[in-house]
Amino acid sequence: MLYADVIVPLPLQDSYTYSIPSELESYLKRGCRVLVPFGRSKSYVGIVRAIHTKVPQGYEVKPIKECLDTQPIVTETQFRFWEWIAQYYVCPLGDVMNAALPARLKEETIRRTRASNHSSLRMDRDEALLSTPQQQAYDAICQSFLTKEVTLLHGVTSSGKTEIYIHLIRQVLAEGKQVLYLLPEIALTTQITERLRSVFGDEMGVFHSKFTDAARVAVYRKQLSDSPYQLILGVRSSVFLPFDRLGLVIVDEEHEVSYKQQDPAPRYHARSAAIMLAHQCGAKTLLGTATPSLESYHLARTGRYGYVSLTTRYLDIQLPEIEVVDIKRLKFQKRMKGIFSPTLLDAIGEALEHHEQVILFQNRRGYANFLMCKTCGWVPQCPHCDVSLTYHKKTNRLVCHYCGQTFDLPTQCPSCEESNFSDVGIGTEKVEQQIHRYFPEATTIRMDIDTAHTRTAYEQIISDFSHHQYDILIGTQMVTKGLDFDNVSVVGILDADTMLNIPDFRSHERTYHVLAQVAGRAGRRTTRGRVVLQTRSVDSDTIAYVVNNDYDAMFRTQMDERRRFHYPPYYRLINIYLRHNDYGRTELLANDLGTLLRQVFGDRVLGPDRPPVARVHSMYVRKLMLKIEKNASPSRVRSLLFDIQARLLQQPSAHGLQIYYDVDPM
Ligand code: ADP
Ligand code: ZN
Ligand code: ZN
Repeated sequence: MLYADVIVPLPLQDSYTYSIPSELESYLKRGCRVLVPFGRSKSYVGIVRAIHTKVPQGYEVKPIKECLDTQPIVTETQFRFWEWIAQYYVCPLGDVMNAALPARLKEETIRRTRASNHSSLRMDRDEALLSTPQQQAYDAICQSFLTKEVTLLHGVTSSGKTEIYIHLIRQVLAEGKQVLYLLPEIALTTQITERLRSVFGDEMGVFHSKFTDAARVAVYRKQLSDSPYQLILGVRSSVFLPFDRLGLVIVDEEHEVSYKQQDPAPRYHARSAAIMLAHQCGAKTLLGTATPSLESYHLARTGRYGYVSLTTRYLDIQLPEIEVVDIKRLKFQKRMKGIFSPTLLDAIGEALEHHEQVILFQNRRGYANFLMCKTCGWVPQCPHCDVSLTYHKKTNRLVCHYCGQTFDLPTQCPSCEESNFSDVGIGTEKVEQQIHRYFPEATTIRMDIDTAHTRTAYEQIISDFSHHQYDILIGTQMVTKGLDFDNVSVVGILDADTMLNIPDFRSHERTYHVLAQVAGRAGRRTTRGRVVLQTRSVDSDTIAYVVNNDYDAMFRTQMDERRRFHYPPYYRLINIYLRHNDYGRTELLANDLGTLLRQVFGDRVLGPDRPPVARVHSMYVRKLMLKIEKNASPSRVRSLLFDIQARLLQQPSAHGLQIYYDVDPM
């Protein structure tokens, strides 16, 4: 009798064993999809992980119902990669399968999707000549690849990194190998797709989470076929596509936080995953950014990665001048005009006079952070989450930014019964409204998840703004990404402090990234750009580093702290979360888990603590943190954690408890 270990999309264990009916024995292979029964009446589509003769003990083995493929749809390379993700990110293989396969490949009723096969070799029109600094960087990267698997390209904003990527891609394709070009979620895809499409035409496939599932299945199947795309441009989940001759992986804007999957598991970092994928395939990885993550820069400085820098902008345009404006003092002197300093208003006015465009950055959507009772200070909270509600003026609603639920404005304060509210804080809606007060003629557009929630809406905003249909673009972090507009001469940062004050060990690094990146949107084509940075923290070192474009100083300061307090890149962090709908049990179980963890991991365990938002969707959340030595084996850590988890879940009081892990949390 033959048996098959089958991965099913369930978060319990890595695989389950089934017997193979004799009629399937001859053609069932590892990597094929099968329909298997589960529990009393359910069935799932699973992936055959292994075929063997070992008789399972202790339970009644059920037979596989049906085989859905004649050829494997998961390749050996993918299996190796799946196993690594499951080990490193502490999750069962079923979770990895869920992330790796488009939904339709996991459905019972299989609709046959034919991959469109219009791949005509077309590489022409449109490759630019590299400037001398670009050519030097290109040569240095090729040189570095001779000895290093990973190379960091540290090129200032608008140094022309994309053009260097294009030359490298062309070289790798000419050698008959494939390229994976990764971009952070949503950001950039529009502009880069156009640029690459004009060079590589149908050689290139695009893989995006906002595409329909059918479109994703088509790309997946094409990569399994005899004529796969040679170049894939995609967001983080494209690391799960099948590649058979991968030669190069480019991770553009490698510092981007959105490379980390937050929910659901596997909570993987696409940069780390891409580096592992390339390693397993014998390919090279190029990390590109103007503002490296501390992790990557550290590895480059210690010689693990190659390092190539590009310190001048394309056409030698100077980096923008950054003026810091002390809004605390101006407020005290009553010289602020609403939320704007006179300096920022002057800069905007001047730009508009010259028919140039402006970007204004404020990292909060909605109108105000919250409403507050003027009499007693009461603030409306979400009844399901431990957060205050954000005021959206346009819809005239209060919105929970965690669970998304919306509420009517209060007519009366439930605490003191007065009806006198004020709004506190600045959101993008307020910025737009106030701009109209000072520049009634200017045309404005907002870019945040309220206005750019679909890919089409997002693309439309970018396209309209590039064609100067609007004078001023107002947005959240979305406008700080690697966008390339010709005509933007002024960037205004309304309030740099919110990011700095977030209680997180990465807040200074992140503030540096965001400010340097948004500043980098100014003055990309003709003349030097101008940035006005409003802040209450004029003495902050981090702000000084941004102004002086001194990445190295920021790096040294932050690394000092990381070393002292045992944070990455010196230590590996694993956050362990518990979720339960009963307050008392959550507390007790979190303490029990802390005790169990300390028996094994000793003082590497911190907590349990309340995370900043300690209740979401009516579930109470507690968090523990593990600080693990860099050289500890991930698979050993995983099996220890899974043992402890099993022991905790055995307790009758643990019924309904959810536990999950976040490795290398961002
Ligand atoms: P980065 O990604 O480094 O911020 P980009 O690749 O967006 O910079 O390049 C900045 C601008 O300079 C773009 O508009 C790009 O088209 C232009 N550019 C860069 N290199 C060249 C080149 N070799 N020839 C023509 N234009 C270039
Ligand atoms: Zn009140
Ligand atoms: Zn909520």
